[in-house]
Amino acid sequence: SPHLELQDLRKEYSERVTAVDGLSLSLSRGELLVMVGPSGCGKSTTLRCIAGLEDPSSGHIRIAGDSVVDRPPEARNIAMVFQNYALYPHKTARQNIGFGLRMTTNLPGETVRERVEDAAETLGITDLLEKKPASLSGGQQQRVALGRAIVRDPDVFLLDEPLSNLDATLRSEMRTEIQTLQRELNVTTVYVTHDQTEAMTIGDRIAVLRDGRLQQLGTPMSCYHEP
Ligand code: ADP
Ligand code: ADP
Repeated sequence: SPHLELQDLRKEYSERVTAVDGLSLSLSRGELLVMVGPSGCGKSTTLRCIAGLEDPSSGHIRIAGDSVVDRPPEARNIAMVFQNYALYPHKTARQNIGFGLRMTTNLPGETVRERVEDAAETLGITDLLEKKPASLSGGQQQRVALGRAIVRDPDVFLLDEPLSNLDATLRSEMRTEIQTLQRELNVTTVYVTHDQTEAMTIGDRIAVLRDGRLQQLGTPMSCYHEP
């Protein structure tokens, strides 16, 4: 049975703008699905609906068989990583990683601390924990954003163009890191990108979106088109 399931998902922002137009997708547990397609085809909106940052106009979203559309974001156990990292500028890496966990659970401070340190160790940023985002490189900020996501031990991991602000070298390095992390955690993942290389190398399957609809779904090889 699918772990993450979208069924006929639809999001209309207005009478004229249908961002997602009847999208159905199923991911098995631990699968990494890459979502590609031109700008404006509904990729971000789809992720934001799954995360609970937008209310779908209609359709179903289920995790392990349970409908989540009526749950607020903090009750979904979904972690999302944004293109711009969305770190709090006045908080240290430690506070950035732990903040969500502190706010949405009643775990004791000591447990939060341990989990933050475990996440930091996994990402190799232990020595950066007392620094603020402005004093970190792009790749380091990205690792903090990933730390904030994995510290919650999420059921579902959503990545929205996570590498587009990095240079080419760092991009391929981080791509490998994310892939390794995703496999280790065995977390069901939707990864949005417009980068063909990223799409071809990172995913188990690729979903190609067009005008809010699924245009193609398949393995990286079956979806490859000569540019
Ligand atoms: P993508 O991530 O593939 O670039 P988006 O999901 O961001 O696509 O956008 C899909 C469509 O919805 C676009 O036409 C976009 O302009 C529109 N859209 C996105 N967010 C909003 C919003 N908050 N209000 C109105 N229209 C939006
Ligand atoms: P996009 O790249 O899709 O145009 P942005 O990156 O500007 O959108 O912002 C994504 C959305 O996520 C914004 O609506 C913002 O309010 C929200 N957001 C920002 N930081 C966080 C966070 N730490 N956790 C959850 N949502 C956040």
